[in-house]
Amino acid sequence: MAEKTATRVLIIGSGPAGYTAGIYASRANLTPVIYEGIQVGGQLTQTSEVENFPGFPEGVDGNEMMSLIRRQAERFGADIRSRIIKKVDFSKRPFLCVDDRGDEVEAETVIISTGASAKYLGLPDEEKYRGMGVSACATCDGFFYRKRIVAVVGGGDTACEEALYLSAIARKVYMIVRKDYLRASDVMKRRVGDRDNIEVLFNCNAVGLFGDGAVEGIHIVRNLGKTDEERFDIEADGFFLAIGHRPNTEIFKGQLDLDSEGYIITKAPTTATSVPGVFAAGDCADPIYRQAVCAAGTGCRAALDAEKFLINAEEL
Ligand code: NDP
Repeated sequence: MAEKTATRVLIIGSGPAGYTAGIYASRANLTPVIYEGIQVGGQLTQTSEVENFPGFPEGVDGNEMMSLIRRQAERFGADIRSRIIKKVDFSKRPFLCVDDRGDEVEAETVIISTGASAKYLGLPDEEKYRGMGVSACATCDGFFYRKRIVAVVGGGDTACEEALYLSAIARKVYMIVRKDYLRASDVMKRRVGDRDNIEVLFNCNAVGLFGDGAVEGIHIVRNLGKTDEERFDIEADGFFLAIGHRPNTEIFKGQLDLDSEGYIITKAPTTATSVPGVFAAGDCADPIYRQAVCAAGTGCRAALDAEKFLINAEEL
């Protein structure tokens, strides 16, 4: 039979934003419940080295960092559940949220920190070869491409990071970049340039994949739509997407104000959403910065906002 629990603060999501909100809310004696969601620990658990989070001068493994932040939340009494919230009803307080087992959580406040997920190009071949050469996570799947040829799509920091990671495993790494420059930061551009086995294909779009059962190559178009458009194929066993992310906010559609890309709209400088008592932190509400340290910062703010909301609600 479905169970029902009540909490003063329900945190949905477990990246740096969710766990940090958990640390602050539990230290304020609010005994938060954290639903960790599908990707426990969030996107950083799929990255290799995190070099820009303050306090780790030599860098830190993404998984290790997230398990440290999780432990910190647990230490102060957060009730962490390895489950997923599937449905929410924000039409009245307390808010009713239903998890993947059908259990209900009645929450006086909710902090949403569901993060974002990798985007795909939308090619039918990405579906056809998913798990058979198509991936959006080099650190998860790079291991399978030892001494082989792979390609990374994108020209941002993520793409450079993925290409660098893969270049230590694979024989050759192509970067497929649609513009004539890399959007990535200078330090990443320099590192890519220094790696002999990375070749950047500028002004190029991947338009299809081929292979018997698994990816064996990529159809490419250079200067797409221009007079000097050129079509060619490259040999590759792995096709890695690194073209940005979309917010994980599907279940909040119709419940909260979202922008045209699905990011939760908050009332700056607070983390308040369009529903009083519901707050948003981290990448699900951040189309601009998308950094772990920013997510942790907004997680802190969301917990403080929720605490203040509860105090004000009690005083009424
Ligand atoms: P970005 O949005 O910065 O870059 C996305 C890249 O994918 C761009 O090169 C973009 O091309 C390309 N792209 C997008 N859509 C398509 C498409 N349909 N077809 C082909 N190419 C496409 O995303 P990132 O994930 O790289 O970075 C997000 C944020 O996270 C940034 O602020 C970044 O600095 C940060 N970050 C920082 C890291 C670090 O400091 N170590 C590591 C990883 C991320 P175009 O340029 O033409 O738009």
